[in-house]
Amino acid sequence: MNKNGSKKSIVIIGNGISGTTLARHIRKNSSYAITIISYESPYFFSRTALMYVYMGQLPFSDTEPYEPQFWRDNSITLLQQRVTQILLDKKQLLLDDSRLFSYDILVLATGSKPNLLGWPGQNLKAVQGLYHKQDLEKLEEWTPSIQSAVIVGGGLIGIELAEMLHSRGKKVHFLIRESHFWNSILPNEETKLVTQHILDKGIELHLNTELKSIASDAEERAKGVYTKEDLFIPCQWVGLSVGVSPNIAFAKKSGLEANKGILVNKYLETNQKGIYAIGDCAELMEPQQGRSPIEAIWYTGRMMGETLAQTITGKRTPYTPGPWFNSAKFFDIEFQIYGQVSASPHKQKERHIFWKHNSKNRTIRISYNPNTLCFLGCMTLGVRFRHAYFDTVLRENKSMDFVITTLEESFFDPEFYPTYKKEILMLWELEKSNLIL
Ligand SMILES: Cc1cc2nc3c(=O)[nH]c(=O)nc-3n(C[C@H](O)[C@H](O)[C@H](O)COP(=O)(O)OP(=O)(O)OC[C@H]3O[C@@H](n4cnc5c(N)ncnc54)[C@H](O)[C@@H]3O)c2cc1C
Repeated sequence: MNKNGSKKSIVIIGNGISGTTLARHIRKNSSYAITIISYESPYFFSRTALMYVYMGQLPFSDTEPYEPQFWRDNSITLLQQRVTQILLDKKQLLLDDSRLFSYDILVLATGSKPNLLGWPGQNLKAVQGLYHKQDLEKLEEWTPSIQSAVIVGGGLIGIELAEMLHSRGKKVHFLIRESHFWNSILPNEETKLVTQHILDKGIELHLNTELKSIASDAEERAKGVYTKEDLFIPCQWVGLSVGVSPNIAFAKKSGLEANKGILVNKYLETNQKGIYAIGDCAELMEPQQGRSPIEAIWYTGRMMGETLAQTITGKRTPYTPGPWFNSAKFFDIEFQIYGQVSASPHKQKERHIFWKHNSKNRTIRISYNPNTLCFLGCMTLGVRFRHAYFDTVLRENKSMDFVITTLEESFFDPEFYPTYKKEILMLWELEKSNLIL
């Protein structure tokens, strides 16, 4: 109860994976009044599935995991509004229809926004990022008039955009600053393989280059881009995907302590009592060793939501992210990473064994500590593992011998490992003998 004798009111700004997970888990353990305020969509949807909507593989409604009735059944009030200010002294939010909304506990779960780097022409028509549902709607509107598109930035959203436009028969130019796709994360063999796969798909890759400016036609619509070498690439649409940053302008203005994101301690508490931040918009002041202070990924949002629900319902719990995991897709090639697998490891601290299928786009890279022979992580292309297996072996700091001999437990495809087990075992035996020499 709050001091007025009514149920404590929890207000969550943002109905993404972090805010929604938090609300669901608070409801499991309490009868607090819960309101989620979010402007983008009336209901939670899976942002990671937006590309499949564009490619015609899913109707948008299938990206919403919960029926409208779910929210009513769980007494979670949804409000489709934008919060423009937090009035800290009054414990109230100012909404963009000028209403004031009171809270006892406030949680910011406001996600990210696409980066804009101040390029000339970045505000022209038919120039956009892909983050919000409205971005997908805009892209859909432009699509019939696009013959040729330029995508800027070789990250995970960039490659999704390339696949999306390619699936609708558009000529795609992909501008990447690096010499190969995602080579800050992917080691040499993988980055070359994925780069070749992108080329094989018919994408026009422009490597080692950057966007200089976007040219306008008479209607102020993009008609092409100039690269830093002054190459002109004509196009009717430009996708800007050079990363995201926390969507926190209104919160910063309201007086919450922030750096790139809203600063939180390990309990996800901000500098203001009773106000928390989770998901993409939160920046941990003391991240776990080897982890980034802001992790703009789905699983982090979900875990932060689950953790904070414990604290809010009476069991103060620190956020401990556990082993790193991420997954993505590069056209037809699935990518997974568990634990630590560096693109250019320090040989004294991290070494790899690397297996590649002789004809298919399938690779397995396993990293280990050469001093302790403990398993450090695994990265795969075109091969799917079970999350639970790696989560356990990483938490238990298992040896490479253990992992190599039990790896078959982790494969999704039971046919796969028996065929290649011998090769992987041999790679490890060879590696060990080289270590001794
Ligand atoms: C195209 C795309 C593909 C992706 N693919 C992957 C993937 O494969 N794997 C992966 O791990 N991650 C992926 N991500 C990242 C992942 O989707 C995000 O990390 C995750 O959605 C962040 O969740 P969140 O709850 O923190 O915020 P969000 O999902 O961004 O939700 C925040 C919500 O807050 C609302 N909001 C913001 N400010 C206000 C305000 N002032 N008032 C009211 N409401 C507000 C916004 O409307 C938004 O709906 C992808 C992202 C994109 C864009």
